[in-house]
Amino acid sequence: MPEKTASADRHPDITTVTIGTRQIQARCKKLGAEITRAYEGRELMVVVVLKGAFMFASDLVRHIDLPMQVDFLAVSSYGDSTKSSGTVRILKDLQKDVLGKDVLMVEDIVDTGLTLAYLRQMLTDRHPRSLATASLLDKKVCRKVEVPVEFVGFEVANEFLVGYGLDFTQRYRNLPFIGVLRPEIYQQHPE
Ligand code: 5GP
Repeated sequence: MPEKTASADRHPDITTVTIGTRQIQARCKKLGAEITRAYEGRELMVVVVLKGAFMFASDLVRHIDLPMQVDFLAVSSYGDSTKSSGTVRILKDLQKDVLGKDVLMVEDIVDTGLTLAYLRQMLTDRHPRSLATASLLDKKVCRKVEVPVEFVGFEVANEFLVGYGLDFTQRYRNLPFIGVLRPEIYQQHPE
């Protein structure tokens, strides 16, 4: 089989590829090294925020050379819509206690910041030793609340993105790249 190249970053429903497969992989490697240096000599508790961060987290942790535990939180903030409701529902809580741990939350995207602010407060109340966030994408221009994001993959513009874990109506999470959907796709699913 020939090696998959950036030219394979195509899908009939995608108009623009915003971040290609190779670019994502290269960034995961760099971020992993950065996190490894930042937490040298410590053990991490990686908290993956499902569903959107599943793919980023699985690539990122491969590049973090530290002892770690991995746990999962499932949240729903948008329903199936493309607009933030500001309401966060915890669909699945952590199995492990974070008390006294160095917690690194892994997020897909920080948009208004409402979801992350809510989760930070929830975890802070459980008294970890430290709490930080790695987010693949940062839509800084859309922020409604100030919230720290210590490790950022890419800063992106205010447009709705899918792929590499990010969905529209639960689809497109499996794409290895990130892009913008054709407008007709949204019109077929009015929210
Ligand atoms: P926030 O609470 O920061 O407004 O939103 C965070 C969540 O909204 C993300 O974890 C993600 O699930 C969803 N979200 C925000 N922007 C986008 C986007 O461009 N595409 C997709 N698929 N989800 C988004």
